Amino acid sequence: MVCTTCQKEESKPYQDKHLCKKCYCRMIEHRIRKHVREDQSLKQTTLVCMGSLTTSVIESITRRHTIETIEEQPSLEDVQAINDKVLIIPWTADHESLYFLNNISNGITTMPFLGKRQNILKLFLPITEQEMILFCEYKNLTYNPLPSSPMLSMLAPIAQKQPQVMNALGKSVTRLAKIVYKDL
Ligand SMILES: [Zn+2]
Repeated sequence: MVCTTCQKEESKPYQDKHLCKKCYCRMIEHRIRKHVREDQSLKQTTLVCMGSLTTSVIESITRRHTIETIEEQPSLEDVQAINDKVLIIPWTADHESLYFLNNISNGITTMPFLGKRQNILKLFLPITEQEMILFCEYKNLTYNPLPSSPMLSMLAPIAQKQPQVMNALGKSVTRLAKIVYKDL
């Protein structure tokens, strides 16, 4: 099957169309760029990237910033202390959904990483886990998938059959949380 967008290359099914490697990666990068532009966080000149994947994607987006790479997820106190920098984390729509669902199922109502946080840019928020896995495969980048958990297994059939639901869920959980916990 040829690509729906360029009509040239061999392609794989993606939602209701077929996309070749090039057009698929372009679509993912476009979504990441748009998300970064809307976020405004990149006005800070120093970006602290968590992991090499985040660094490599950020480097392909901007040349105007000083980029530092760290390997470990910092504590919330450390994040709050970096007020003249922006921390860029490899956080997808699935990370956002699972963070919310795991917390509510455990009765935890304090969710310091949910939604838009000052000095933190969740770089892959408009992208699902499945979309990231294919993007990284095409780009020869290393992606560390979410660790297996009962909640992830529960969502797996939805991610497989209705991937757009995972996008929508990632976008909605902050609003859901505000309805459930009015003090958020
Ligand atoms: Zn194409």
